[in-house]
Amino acid sequence: MPEGDVVYRAARRLGLALDGRVLTRSDFRVPRHATADLTGRTVLETVSRGKHLLTRVEGGLTVHTHLRMEGSWQISPAGRRLPPGDVIRLVLANAEWQAAGVRLGMVDLVPVNEETRFVGHLGPDLLGADWDEAEAVRRLARKPETSIGEALLDQRNLAGIGTIYRAETLFLAKVSPWRPVGMIEDLGTIVTLAHRLMDANKERPSRVTTGDLRPGRGTWVYGRAGRPCLRCGRRISRGEMGAQPQERLIIWCGHCQPEEPTD
Ligand SMILES: [Zn+2]
Repeated sequence: MPEGDVVYRAARRLGLALDGRVLTRSDFRVPRHATADLTGRTVLETVSRGKHLLTRVEGGLTVHTHLRMEGSWQISPAGRRLPPGDVIRLVLANAEWQAAGVRLGMVDLVPVNEETRFVGHLGPDLLGADWDEAEAVRRLARKPETSIGEALLDQRNLAGIGTIYRAETLFLAKVSPWRPVGMIEDLGTIVTLAHRLMDANKERPSRVTTGDLRPGRGTWVYGRAGRPCLRCGRRISRGEMGAQPQERLIIWCGHCQPEEPTD
């Protein structure tokens, strides 16, 4: 699933192709907006908020999109063949470029002042200009009985983390994903780590949390379940976390990441 860094780069690529240019075509392939037409309007900007994308268009409109599990934006020179029609949810094109939203999880067209319907609930955005670490910590601490693994994925606490950054952040923090938030003395350290990891990767197409750019060496635990921990050599665990049917993959080292605080 795309996490904040991927969405951040998608916003930038959309910006390079669309910002300041007049749309020559828009094609909403979702029932609710099937008749919408933005042709003739200039695209002002696309910004990311956590995992959400907001494309603001002249005339006070916002196109809200979300990649969900497997969505992507594919950008190509105008007139090129688009991906197969059945996977496209939205096309925005100008005289030079076309952007095809493939398998998008959400597509909405709303007045700009209704953006909050989609992003108003979000906690501080890890890659936002207004990133606020203290506020993220405050929100995480609101439910002390929740496991830190679940709390980090709750976008109302802080926005942008998915299963990969969750696993890597908690490994580096040496905290079990199952430890309740209330049993963690220094939530600030975890939040700082998450921010640092994502910020360091926002310009990189391949994600690296170990500092090792070689293929297959980029992560500490994510993608390495059942293999030896890079720190202690013990077998890395894999499980599922969260209430059904929204449980999500969790990977951790039971030795390096104790469930109880050690000191
Ligand atoms: Zn270990």
